[in-house]
Amino acid sequence: TEKQRRQFVSDASHELKTPLASIRLLTDSIVQNANMDESTMREFVSDIGSEADRLQRTTEKLLDLSRLDDGVMVEEEPVDMKQVTMDALWLLRPIAAEKDVHIHSELADGCVVMATVDDIYHIVFNLAENAIKYNVSGGSVMLTLRGGDDTVEFITEDTGIGIPEEERLNVFSRFYRVDKARSRASGGSGLGLSIVHDAVVKHGGTITVGANKPCGTRFTVTFPRPTSEETGI
Ligand code: ADP
Repeated sequence: TEKQRRQFVSDASHELKTPLASIRLLTDSIVQNANMDESTMREFVSDIGSEADRLQRTTEKLLDLSRLDDGVMVEEEPVDMKQVTMDALWLLRPIAAEKDVHIHSELADGCVVMATVDDIYHIVFNLAENAIKYNVSGGSVMLTLRGGDDTVEFITEDTGIGIPEEERLNVFSRFYRVDKARSRASGGSGLGLSIVHDAVVKHGGTITVGANKPCGTRFTVTFPRPTSEETGI
């Protein structure tokens, strides 16, 4: 609706305004302080770089969302979720190693869904990245891919900080962050899970969030398993 659209534009502008204001402030400090020592200046320039990174990530996510929103039905193809998950893991392992988070996975063969590789990649990457990002040092992440008679399930379980029960339904809303300060510090825009949600729904799937035992969060994505006529395999 028009009201939602206006809210979205206002939230998006705010999201872009904050890093731009920081960049403005940092450059002004450098320009106005002729005697700034080199190490402070380097620190300020590096902060400018981080803010630019944040802007880049946010604009990329906004573009992903607008692509999912444009209503154009893309041609679905059979996508092997195991292959896509392994590709995403390849990029995520260094991030996990840096945070001292261990990744385990149990990925069944033959988990094919009708979707696009890009959308499945966004789903798997964003969920697994969050499971690492909102974890604790020494924690772990379990990724499971399994096929039932009629469904294909992708599950992420982490031993991280968890999401309070009353916040769980909100996390799929655009720009929603549970801990505003903490996720801003980690570069979060609050857009990742809304991209995941929209991509899952677009391909006929569902996503749920719950608590992991003894601690942390579990996300379960369920897709209908296509017939061999649909996949042509
Ligand atoms: P962000 O870019 O902030 O990570 P997301 O849309 O991906 O945005 O997630 C929304 C919010 O949900 C995050 O800011 C975080 O507070 C919370 N969140 C997402 N995944 C997890 C998780 N695995 N464990 C704990 N909190 C999470």
